[in-house]
Parts: sequence; C-alpha cells; structure tokens
Amino acid sequence: MSILDTKIEFLKGVGPKRALLLNKELSIFSFSDLLNYFPYRYVDRSKFYKIHQISGFDVDVQVIGFVRKKHMMGAGRKKRLIISFFDDTGSVDLVFFKRIPWIDKSIQVNKKYLIFGKPNQYANQLSFVHPEMELLDASVKSRKYTLYPVYHSTEKLSSSGLHSKGLSKLVFLLLDIINDNIVENLSVNLLDKYHFLDRGSAFRIIHFPSNLKSLNQAIYRFKFEELFFLQLAILTQKKMRQKKHKSYIFNKVGSKFNIFYHHHIGFELTNSQKRVMREIRLDMSTGFQMNRLLQGDVGSGKTIIAIMTILLAYDNGFQSCLMVPTEILANQHFNSIMKFAKDIDLNIALLTGKTKSSLKKQILVNLKNHSIDLVIGTHALIEDHVGFSNLGLVIIDEQHKFGVSQRARLWSNKEILPHVLVMTATPIPRSLAMTAYGDLDVSVINELPPNRQKILTKHYYDSEINKVFHFMYKELRNNKQVYIVYPLIEESKVLDYKNLNAGYENIKAIFHKKGYRISMIHGRLSKDDKSIEMNKFLNKETHILVATTVIEVGVNVPNATIMIIQNAEKFGLSQLHQLRGRVGRGSDRGYCFLVTSNKLTNDAKIRLKAMVDSSDGFKIAEIDLNLRGPGDILGTRQSGLINLKIANLVKDYDILNCAREEARNLLLDDFSISNNTNLPIRNFFLKYHSKLLKWGSVS
Ligand code: ADP
Ligand code: MG
Repeated sequence: MSILDTKIEFLKGVGPKRALLLNKELSIFSFSDLLNYFPYRYVDRSKFYKIHQISGFDVDVQVIGFVRKKHMMGAGRKKRLIISFFDDTGSVDLVFFKRIPWIDKSIQVNKKYLIFGKPNQYANQLSFVHPEMELLDASVKSRKYTLYPVYHSTEKLSSSGLHSKGLSKLVFLLLDIINDNIVENLSVNLLDKYHFLDRGSAFRIIHFPSNLKSLNQAIYRFKFEELFFLQLAILTQKKMRQKKHKSYIFNKVGSKFNIFYHHHIGFELTNSQKRVMREIRLDMSTGFQMNRLLQGDVGSGKTIIAIMTILLAYDNGFQSCLMVPTEILANQHFNSIMKFAKDIDLNIALLTGKTKSSLKKQILVNLKNHSIDLVIGTHALIEDHVGFSNLGLVIIDEQHKFGVSQRARLWSNKEILPHVLVMTATPIPRSLAMTAYGDLDVSVINELPPNRQKILTKHYYDSEINKVFHFMYKELRNNKQVYIVYPLIEESKVLDYKNLNAGYENIKAIFHKKGYRISMIHGRLSKDDKSIEMNKFLNKETHILVATTVIEVGVNVPNATIMIIQNAEKFGLSQLHQLRGRVGRGSDRGYCFLVTSNKLTNDAKIRLKAMVDSSDGFKIAEIDLNLRGPGDILGTRQSGLINLKIANLVKDYDILNCAREEARNLLLDDFSISNNTNLPIRNFFLKYHSKLLKWGSVS
C-alpha cells in the first residue's frame, strides 16, 4: 500500500469531522483523491493594487495595507464585523457576516495585511465582503509563486474552514508528506517523446505553479494522462468484448436477402451503404457479438441497412427486434417494412404501449414460438419482459434515447448474446464518438443517395413571413407538401400550445380558402389522433402539417419539400438539422426556412449561420459540440465517462487523438501491457481500469 492510499482523515489538519465533509462534498477519501483534486483556475497574484486603483473592477485583486479599526454593526442575524483597511492612497471597508467571533479574534489592529478578493462598489462606497486576509509576515513576503490556485469548495466545507485557501493549505501539507511517493505512470518512451514533466513535478506544479509556462506543461501532461488511460480502458474493453461475448454465426446469405436485394429495393445502394453491409456481415460471421454503431447523416439511408440486416438474421433462422424511441417512428417503420415484407413473407409484429392487451398476449406467445420473425416497437419491448424463441439481432434506431442498462434487459441472463446494431439519429462528432462510443465498432455512411439535391436553407425574420408564404404557394401548387414546426418549451406547455394554435389558425386562414388542407400534431393529441393526422399527411390528404417537434426524428414523407421552422432561434443545432432532414428526401429539391424574431443571442446567430452555410451533419455536430459541450449533447447517458477531470473533449481534440493513437499502438505492441518498459502504465492502469469497468458492458 502506498502512502497515497491513506485515509484523508489522517492528514494533519483534517480529522474525522472534516474528513466526513470531504468525503461527502468532494468525494475525497484518500490522500490520492486530494492530490488529484486540481484547482479549476488560478489567479495571478504577481500584481498588487493600490486602493485608489480598484474602483469598478470586477476581478479578484490583492492589496497590502493596515487594519486601523474594527467595529460591529447590527445585531442578531444582521450582525456585521466591519474592518477599516487603509493604504497610502485610500481606505476600504472589509465586511464579514459569518464566523465573526473567530475573525474578530484573529485580525489584529495596526498590523500590515495582504488582502485578496473581489471589490464591491455600492453607492460610491468600496468594500470587500469576506476577503482572504493574511498577516504580511516573512513567509508571505518570501513566497515564490505568484499564480494562486483556486479550488471549488462548497458552503459546508467553507464553513468548516475548507474554502479554497483551506484546501490549498491541505494540499501543501500533503505534498510535503508524500515526498517522492508519487509514482510515474507513463513509460519512458512516452515521457521522452512528448517531453512530459515527470508525474511528481507535474502534481507540485499544478497545485503551486511558479509560472505560466510550467503550469501549462503540467496541465498538458495531466490531460494526456487522463485521455490516454481512458482510451486504453475503452480499447481494452473493446478487445475483450470482441473476444468474450459469444454470439450466433450468420454466415448464410439466403433467399429472403437475395430476393429483397435483387427485386425489391428499387435503387442501387450507395458505395457507403455497400461498405457498411460488408462490415456488418463480417461482424456477424465471427461467432462473437457484433456491437456496431451506424452513423449516417439524416437521409443517408440507414433504414435499408436495418432491413437487410434483419433479413440476414432471418435467413440464418433467427428473430430480430427493432427498437425505436417514438410511437410515430414505430408505426412508420412497421408500415414501410410491412410493404416490403408483403412480397417476401416475413412475419412482423408491432408492439408499443398502445397495443391492445389481447393482441399483446398473442404477440408474446408468437414471439416465444417463433411464428413472428421481427418485432418492431418502443420502450414497451423492454418494459413488458418480452421473451423470444431465438433472438439473434437487436437494432436500436435513434440511439441516445435508450439507456445502456435498458438495452441490456432485452437479453439479460443469456449466455449467447444477440448481435447489436445501434443507429444514430444525429451524427456525433468524432471526439465524442471516440469516447462515449469508443468501445463500439463504428460504421459511417458518408454519402447521400444520388440525385439528392442540396436543401436550400434560408433565414428570415418574422417580418418577412410573407416571402415564406409566397414560396409555400409555389410548392403547394406543384402538389408538394409543407411542414411548419413550432418549438416546444417544456416549462410552458400552455404557452407552446397557444403558439401552435395561433400558428395553425393563421395558416388555416390563409391557405384553407385556397383549397389546401392542414393537419396538426402536438403532444396533447392522443396517440391515435396523432397517427391519424400523420397518415393523412403521408397519404397527401392534407398538404400542410403544423406540428411541434414530435416529427423530429426519422419521419419520412418524400413528397414534402418545405420545412418551415418558427422561432428557429429556440431550437438546438442538431434539432434544426434533424428537422431539415425531413425534406429533400425524394428527388425534388428541399427548402428549409428558419424564421426568427429580430432579437438573437450570439449563440443563436452562430446556429443559424451554421445551418445556412452547411448541410453536413458531421460538421454541424462539431459546431454544436463547441457551443454546448459534450454533456448536453449526450444527455445524461454515460455522463460519467465524459466527466473528465481536466481534459476537455472539445478543446483538447488534438491531445485526445494523440492519446488514442498512443493507446492503440501500445495495445498493438503489447496487448497485455506486460513489457518491462510499460510497467508504469500497467500498474496504474490496473487500478484505474477496475473503476471504469462499471460502465463496461455497453451492450
Ligand atoms: P435515414 O438515414 O435518415 O434513416 P432513410 O433510411 O429513411 O434515411 O432513407 C431516406 C430515403 O432515402 C428513403 O426514402 C430511402 O428509401 C431512400 N434511399 C435510401 N438509400 C437509397 C439509395 N441508395 N438510393 C436512393 N434512395 C435511397
Ligand atoms: Mg432513420
């Protein structure tokens, strides 16, 4: 055991009470945890301010001066300790309202102090509330470092003295005790190649930097380290999974697949689609479980891949299951696959929350006795403990709406696992995919079917809406259809509904008298009514569909050519891109009009510009990641994974790439990480990896 594994309680100045707080508030349990609790920013304290210089500042400043007077103001909960603080240019009040007796006792009048904090200006009077104060003695004067660490603390910790400075003191003590006990965890090879600081120095510097240059070196090292071990974990996991999970061998390409491929598709697959099919077939022929993520921009033709994969499973004697996030999508997939299946005699069932219980019972029986080949459904598939006769393939469309553990319920307690194909609705930036989905194999469809014309995207202000309507007429007269989408803001459903209704009435007033019919879909409609309205639009009984974002994912009406997005500034980028993907799905040109108010935030302007400039989903995903950060993009899914301590998936893309490369090379050379030169890595990895295994089995 290393000294670093010592319980934090035993660090001088901690003790049981503070230890409990550190455990609870910051998850610091051991010396090592504290050592790895990095400052989140630094303040430059090479600069000193005179009191007359600090009016109107909004940054932390430090001032040297004398305490002249202390007095109390108010009483009870309003009690304040006011300290008058002077230098040769003026005076300020230092105000304290917590821990008053203790501060009163420790601050001495007529002594020289260094104070540090954020100045407040109120009615021309300058003050500091709870500044840090240090007696200006020799130790302070001789301090070498000028970049002061700032640590996140909490109210509870602060009130027991462990505010940023208190934490810093603990780290200072800790570094003193542990001396040379910080063990290197990178190989000499890596240290040399990248000129990394050794680990011991890096820890000292990151907590107490003496200058910006070495601080940056330390940060660089820790970022690499973090990403390197993460990638190492992910890649090892992937390798082990590939070797571990037995699955069925689908090595036959049978009649269903062939008939479909040669007679029913009706178009030539794109090269990307062909490549992806090869990758999938190869995966499913090895005897080990496929865990593949299929990425492709909207409209790139992922559904056809799903169908062919299902037919492969069928030809090899297995059942399939297709999970989708919404009722509408389930219906749509069901209908379109049914059309194909008519000719090739595939037994398909639809199972959603809406399925009548008598029918559901029958479906469950038929899945058990294998008279159903494919079941398509929503969450109901997971919730209802569906049992299969021999489930060989699970396809999950529009991935991130299903959690990892949810999926696993489909095949819990099985020795031989079904193959898994995950299809994403929205392209995911590479850096995110490499981390959050790093242990899945990834296939990318990076081209759209031919003859697809680029969707023309334009931004209009509300005041220009007539131009948009004018264009609508033109398309409607050509028998095309139009979507009009309103944002859904969860907090004010009533208001959303009002907006939508007003929009609907307005559109109706204008277009109805010209003979165009209008459907409306929103969350308040029953599921039946939703699909009735949707079907009317699909069958061209209605020409305009006014909707909230329920139509966002995957809906396919090739005859619709215009997507009008109202209040477009209120939508996120990936949502806008998804919505836009609803048009331009046939051979006709698609149009997307983003209608906004005149008042736009900077972020909104960036989003709108990205949409107008680019139709590349991967590029848009990158911009989105930059704007929102990874947490928001993936939702809470695997958030633990992207909760990095120091690295940032957006800003540190280059380091990530490099770390992944190095991790890959290491495993290629030395898969078991047992070469002598890699021992530092191995020792650290074994400890670290066991923690990561928790999110381990992605499938
Ligand atoms: P998504 O990837 O968004 O799920 P879909 O699978 O719904 O896309 O496909 C969009 C449309 O493109 C569908 O109408 C589909 O039939 C059509 N499509 C798919 N692949 C091709 C192809 N290779 N050539 C022509 N059309 C295709
Ligand atoms: Mg789709």
